[in-house]
Amino acid sequence: MDEFSIIRNIFSGHDAGADLGIGDDCALLVPQNGCRLAVTSDTLNEGVHFFKDSDPQNLGHKCLAVNLSDLAAMGATPRWFTLAISLPSPDYIDLRKFADGMFALAKMHGISLVGGDTTKGPLSVSITAMGEVPNGQAITRHGAKPGDLVFVTGNLGGAALAVACGYGKYPDLDKDRLIQCRTRLDLPEPRIAAGLALRGIASAMLDISDGIIQDLGHICERSACGAEIYADKIPIHPALYEQSINDIERLDLALAGGDDYELCFTSSPENADEIKAIAENTKIPIADIGKITDKNPDDRQVRVLQGKALFNTSACGYNHFA
Ligand code: ADP
Ligand code: MG
Repeated sequence: MDEFSIIRNIFSGHDAGADLGIGDDCALLVPQNGCRLAVTSDTLNEGVHFFKDSDPQNLGHKCLAVNLSDLAAMGATPRWFTLAISLPSPDYIDLRKFADGMFALAKMHGISLVGGDTTKGPLSVSITAMGEVPNGQAITRHGAKPGDLVFVTGNLGGAALAVACGYGKYPDLDKDRLIQCRTRLDLPEPRIAAGLALRGIASAMLDISDGIIQDLGHICERSACGAEIYADKIPIHPALYEQSINDIERLDLALAGGDDYELCFTSSPENADEIKAIAENTKIPIADIGKITDKNPDDRQVRVLQGKALFNTSACGYNHFA
């Protein structure tokens, strides 16, 4: 297969919803009246974001899932995406399987592939996703206020445990537990339904890709406030309670590990009942884990409290060039 047969045979035919889709110099897209376009890009590189020899179907899912997670975090409805893929040769990975994983998730969320680029190079997948949000309703990072509660969807730490195991840590971990964690790492479920339901409710929101301490820190920075979260309220993936993982490692994995793709948001306490109802309706668990404060006196953006004591994580979240 050459470049053009890859585009024609693998990536074309999924561009409904565009005025003009794949095949021209640009796609032509028309957002709905009164909406803003929410645009986000995420790149996954072999050896950095995924292990060499990863299952191609899972890879297709994950590349799109991480972008959908950003749209969810903005409260945006998914609409269109573009795909820039580099690979050393056309058969370096099974592109049909890659496309199967990607398009299955795309279909689930009503998002269309409207263009992209196909080039030779080290395996790398870069997706730009576009969604719509009614003007004034996007959920940004800068709206948190002291007194707001901090919430998180799902549970944390499972994906980080799978990564640790991938590097040879915790060799005694139960096989079924490991599979659960690998699923969290390889097949994240973008929290689109929760993101949409939280329009008008969440004062600030983001998705957790680099550990909640670092990511909630971004909300604090943009909102000029601090946060306090309580260790015993964090929803932790059940596999992290395996015997070979001690208490400190467990909290490090849950609070500073990456790849969770859960939503973290803030909201006034008076919305607590409505948030409970959203969790029930969307079947996505939502836990209240802390509160927004004025800036913390010790200059920490996010303080983790274990009872009354301050918990010092040894890890501090993923940072590419640190
Ligand atoms: P150009 O030379 O103008 O950049 P290309 O020859 O790279 O155009 O691409 C031809 C068409 O195929 C364009 O519409 C482009 O958006 C689309 N395309 C290329 N690669 C991909 C891909 N990986 N996924 C989806 N569409 C693609
Ligand atoms: Mg091109």
